[in-house]
This record gives sequence, structure tokens and C-alpha cells, in this order.
Amino acid sequence: MSERTAVVVGAGIGGVTAAAALSRRGWRVTLLERAPELGEVGAGISVWPKALQVLDGLGAKQRLGDAGIDAVQGGLRRPDGRWLIRVSGTAMEAPMMVHRARLHEAITATFPASVQIRTGVTVVGVEQDATSATVIGSAGEEFTADLVVAADGLRSVVRTALNPGHPGPRYSGYTAFRGVAEVDRPDDGGETWGRGYRFGYLPLVDGRVYWYATATAPAQAKPAQAKPAQAKPVQPELDVTELFQHWHDPIPALVGKTPPETVLRNDVYDLALPLPPFVTGRVVLLGDAAHAMTPNLGQGACAAIQDAGVLAEQLERYGEQPAALESYDRIRRTATTKLVRRSRRLGVLGQVANPVAATTRDGVLALIGQAARLLPNRRPTTQPVRPA
Ligand SMILES: Cc1cc2nc3c(=O)[nH]c(=O)nc-3n(C[C@H](O)[C@H](O)[C@H](O)COP(=O)(O)OP(=O)(O)OC[C@H]3O[C@@H](n4cnc5c(N)ncnc54)[C@H](O)[C@@H]3O)c2cc1C
Repeated sequence: MSERTAVVVGAGIGGVTAAAALSRRGWRVTLLERAPELGEVGAGISVWPKALQVLDGLGAKQRLGDAGIDAVQGGLRRPDGRWLIRVSGTAMEAPMMVHRARLHEAITATFPASVQIRTGVTVVGVEQDATSATVIGSAGEEFTADLVVAADGLRSVVRTALNPGHPGPRYSGYTAFRGVAEVDRPDDGGETWGRGYRFGYLPLVDGRVYWYATATAPAQAKPAQAKPAQAKPVQPELDVTELFQHWHDPIPALVGKTPPETVLRNDVYDLALPLPPFVTGRVVLLGDAAHAMTPNLGQGACAAIQDAGVLAEQLERYGEQPAALESYDRIRRTATTKLVRRSRRLGVLGQVANPVAATTRDGVLALIGQAARLLPNRRPTTQPVRPA
């Protein structure tokens, strides 16, 4: 069989994992990225076991360090510090918390020489016929291959070109802040829900503390065109220090020990449901381009990593494209539609601002917390409340 070729558009976590997974199975990959260089900035990221399994298969998990998954005490609190749900770290499925840049580097470090990286290329269109697909760059460059993987994020140009009728991104009604604090590692983590505001923190495997917060707010006038990790610093009119200064310890200290210029702010969007088809002929959507979700389950990048694993697996299994791609679409669109929906619902619950509704919510959560304590040896079947 002649060498199979793929063009991957976008070198975020989804795109680099797709490039790694395809090249590992013998594909010659061209990876296109509009930014002048490859990389991720930003704060922490939760990597759940299913995504870690894919990274393990690629040889990237080992590069994240041997700290393993941390079993921290955690749960859900009120802003005054009273626990609503308290869980022991060993009683639930836990993610590995890593810095985004480290995750990205761990994946790109596995690239063989057959991955050709082209930065500074902004894709503006895609064309295809029965035998190949061609991606077009803004300077008129053309990249032709057997397969195109569009991993170009929330505002995917490729998705819009292929699905002009899909409504695209939808504002959630809240904005998110993220930071990494240089503090002594606390012995717990978890999330705190107020009225229209949330705050969460977890130790990273490198010993620093990742925190995130949300605030109900109108969307900023101009949605950031950059990827989430390259968002603008916090706008002065919504001051994260002020918003959380009276919340329980160590929240004010975590914000205080984070250089303000490194705090990121992103308005939170997800993709309108139903999601578009993930496959059109020889062009595949992957990651946020296919299924951007609110960050409430901490699963968006993990889903992108799993997409890449399933895509490479199905192409290997079927050997020919239509059957493999149909299977990828079926498996991943079903799974990620559920995640988008669950994450959206969790966000609505977490952002409740009405005092009566918030008190009722907290009362119900406290009852759930008490019931969970009566079942100490049961692993929860669903993920615990987990961060933006
Ligand atoms: C506040 C917040 C917290 C989050 N926390 C977590 C978490 O803890 N765990 C988790 O799993 N997920 C988390 N996520 C979700 C996660 O960040 C995204 O799901 C993930 O980054 C998506 O990766 P991607 O590669 O699909 O897209 P992106 O990261 O958006 O990458 C797209 C890439 O394509 C490039 N690109 C775009 N358009 C073009 C073009 N026309 N031509 C060429 N290149 C282009 C961009 O420059 C970019 O590099 C969080 C998200 C937010 C907003």
C-alpha cells in the first residue's frame, strides 16, 4: 500500500495528538498552524484516565512526569467554607493535573520525522474530490492529502465552510478566569459555589496550584479570536481579586499569589446542539472544532485526545476511509454530544444567582453529600464536580 497522507489543521492539543496518533500508524502528516510557533500557554488542565490511556499509547504520558495521579481531599463548598459534599481523593476517579504547556510539549516530543510542521499558515478553505482533499492557506498555498483533519478550534473555519447552516458557538452567560499560584501546596482541592460565581483549585503535579473561577457576565464585545490559552488578561472592570476577596481560605491567597498579568480570562462558549457531522467526505472535524463544550467537566481537551485515538484506531481497523470515518463519527459524535449537554447543565446549576434557587440547590447538594458518606466504599459512577 502506498504511504497514506494527512493534513492536520490547527496545532492545539487536539491537532498535535491527531498528528502523533496518525504518524504512529504510518501516516505522513503535515501539521498547519496559524500561530508563528507551536506551543500552549495558559494554566492547568485536568487529564482524565481515558485520555491518559491514549497518551500512554503514544508514549506521551511518560513525559508528563512520574508524579502520577494525586489523590487530594476535595468536594464542594459554600463561599463561607462549609462543605456541601466532601470526598476523599481515593474514593473517586481523579484526573492528572498538569500545566497545558507541559502536556503540549509531551505530545509533540513524540513526533517522528514524518510529521512536517508548518507554522504561520492560516487556513481559509478546503476542497475535495473522490481521491483527495486540499486545504487552502491565506497566501494561496495548497496542501493536498488523502485525509484532512480539522482541529482548528471553537471558531473553526473548516467547520463553517462544510456546515454553513450550523449555528456555531453559543455564549454560556459566564466568563472564566484561570491562574497558577506559587504557594505551598494545600492538602485539599475542590470547588466552591456562590451565587453567580464559582471558584476551584487543585494542585498541579509540579507542586504549584491551578485555580479557576467563573462569573456570570455579558459576553465581552469582541470574542477573542485567539485560542483559549492565548486569551487576554483580565479586564479591569471585572476584578477577580475583588470578586473573591471574602471567600474562604485559601481562595484570596491563591489569587493574591498569582501575578495579575498572568491571569487569563475567557468568555465561555460551547457549540450549539445538535453537533454538526464530524465527517464530510475526506474531511474530519476533531476537538473543539467538532464539539466545543463548556469547561465544567474539565473534559474538552481530553475529548480531543480521545477523538485522535479513535480516529487513528478506526483508520487502522477498516483500512479504507469511508467505513473508518463513519465509525469515527458514530463513536465520537455520540459520546461528545452527551458531554456537551452534561457540561452545559452543570454550568447552569453552578451559576445559579437567585438567592432562593441557590439556597435550594445548596440544600439538595448537602443531602447528596450526606447520602454519599453513607456509602464510603462505592466509587461514584459519574465524575465528581470538576472544574472549569
Ligand atoms: C477556562 C477553560 C478551562 C478548561 N479546562 C480544561 C481542563 O481542565 N481539561 C480539559 O480536558 N479541557 C479543558 N478545557 C477545554 C480545552 O481547553 C479545549 O477543549 C481544548 O484546548 C481544545 O483543543 P483543540 O486543539 O481542539 O482546539 P484549540 O486549543 O482551540 O486549538 C486550535 C488550534 O488551531 C489553530 N487555528 C485556528 N484556526 C486556524 C486556521 N484557520 N488556520 C490554521 N490554524 C488555525 C489555533 O491557533 C490553535 O492552535 C478548558 C477550556 C477553558 C476555556
